[in-house]
Amino acid sequence: MPNLTDIQTIRDLCARHDFALSKGFGQNFIVNPGICPKIVEASGIGPDWGVLEIGPGIGVLTKELALRAKKVVAVEVDKRLPALLAETLAEFDNVEVILQDVLKVDLKALIAEKFPGMPVAVCANLPYYITSPILMRLLEEKLPIHSITVMVQKEAAQRITAQPGTREAGAISYAVDYYSKPQLLFSVQPGSFFPPPKVTSAVIQLMVRPQPAVQVQDEAGYFKLIRAAFSQRRKTAANSVSSGLGLPKAQVAAALEKAGLAPTARPEQLTLEDFLALQTALNQETV
Ligand code: SAM
Repeated sequence: MPNLTDIQTIRDLCARHDFALSKGFGQNFIVNPGICPKIVEASGIGPDWGVLEIGPGIGVLTKELALRAKKVVAVEVDKRLPALLAETLAEFDNVEVILQDVLKVDLKALIAEKFPGMPVAVCANLPYYITSPILMRLLEEKLPIHSITVMVQKEAAQRITAQPGTREAGAISYAVDYYSKPQLLFSVQPGSFFPPPKVTSAVIQLMVRPQPAVQVQDEAGYFKLIRAAFSQRRKTAANSVSSGLGLPKAQVAAALEKAGLAPTARPEQLTLEDFLALQTALNQETV
């Protein structure tokens, strides 16, 4: 089995397959030998589990997942990689590589087909340029997955795992907290990757909630309201919601009051429950 954390081995492998790493696809491969076992350990998967990996690259994390799980399905967009992965993962008969864009694949159907009756986790070193769209797809589609354990940029990790109602929170923190219990597990320095990225990374874990954190009737409207509130960060929630949703300021102010919220509240001071109360009050204002 090739040592996929050895840079010379990676160079030889790439040369043999005429493969040059693509910046466009966010290809920074893990070469610190301690990292993949640590991610897999944290993911909590066991011998009965199915794992969905996004972006296997040359297979360094895939291999570690295959050693622990019953089955690994790895979705990779780069059409040059399946041939290379066939070589690096040759000894495993529990890995399937699917050549597709993860943002386009039917994940619900894929999970039902590939992991019947298995507990399922997502584990990956994500392509950073599409971190948010991937996480939002995984969460919004209410897929039957237990947890998402992924490497992302540290700055994104801090935003994603920030508690609503704290200064660091952004619209994505609310969406993530609505669907899951997030945690920042550990940071990873640029030197742990080949080539090293410009930024520090971090591994986060989202434990998917069996039910969303609050009971919302109109989820699309709820998240539209949250996004509007955060559309102009330095403004009060009232001003941002008013301009973001095209509503008169007086109407938003009245709804805030009805919801028991301060007219000067900043969006990051509001909780998931506060936004629900505001949505309800706004709906009452408009009928
Ligand atoms: N898992 C490998 C590792 O840790 O060394 C590679 C991680 S690298 C940061 C991200 C991987 O995601 C690359 O293999 C890249 O080609 C793949 N990728 C990029 N965009 C993708 C997409 N839209 N769908 C699926 N895979 C994608």
